[in-house]
Amino acid sequence: MEEEKGLLIVLSGPSGVGKGTVRKAIFSDPDVQFAYSISATSRPKRPGEVDGVDYFFKTREEFEQMIAQNELLEYTEYVGNYYGTPVDYVQKTLAQGKDVFLEIEVDGAKQVREKFPEGLFIFLIPPSLKELESRIKLRGTESPHLIENRLSVAKDELKMMGLYDYVVENDQVENAVKKIKAIVTAEHCRRSR
Ligand code: 5GP
Repeated sequence: MEEEKGLLIVLSGPSGVGKGTVRKAIFSDPDVQFAYSISATSRPKRPGEVDGVDYFFKTREEFEQMIAQNELLEYTEYVGNYYGTPVDYVQKTLAQGKDVFLEIEVDGAKQVREKFPEGLFIFLIPPSLKELESRIKLRGTESPHLIENRLSVAKDELKMMGLYDYVVENDQVENAVKKIKAIVTAEHCRRSR
């Protein structure tokens, strides 16, 4: 059976996990059919970045105008700068039957989950979190202070994990890319029954 609407794929995860690197590796494959949703941001352009390719670079005022005019599917303020997903592109591309791929931080992903519960949400984790998880399960084999610190960080991240359909460990970029592609393929098969 042919699906009509495209799939909204959201890749998120804790900061520093390598979401951007994984996303770039996915889109460097010419066979990949997803459409990348270019975000708007008020952060300054970094050397080598191109407006309309890496981001739509906006002033804070321009960004706030986009918020006021409901032009964003989600947005957040992250380390002093706005980041957001233009809603128009997402809606139009999904309506054309194409998959749309968002690579955003966790607060934004939560907002998208509320608006698009049927989206495909993938959480990228660093390998160390998995280790940490099993340590937590073993309970109290390290000094209480260390466990407490690690637990509090891990707990926040683990709480976020519950919102996602899949968790992918970013042990090596190529492995994470393979898994994400396989998840999308499987999800299409599951949904087209
Ligand atoms: P950077 O400034 O390094 O390009 O991105 C910083 C963070 O913002 C990354 O975690 C990235 O995933 C996230 N990000 C990029 N675009 C968006 C967006 O449109 N919305 C949200 N919520 N986060 C974004």
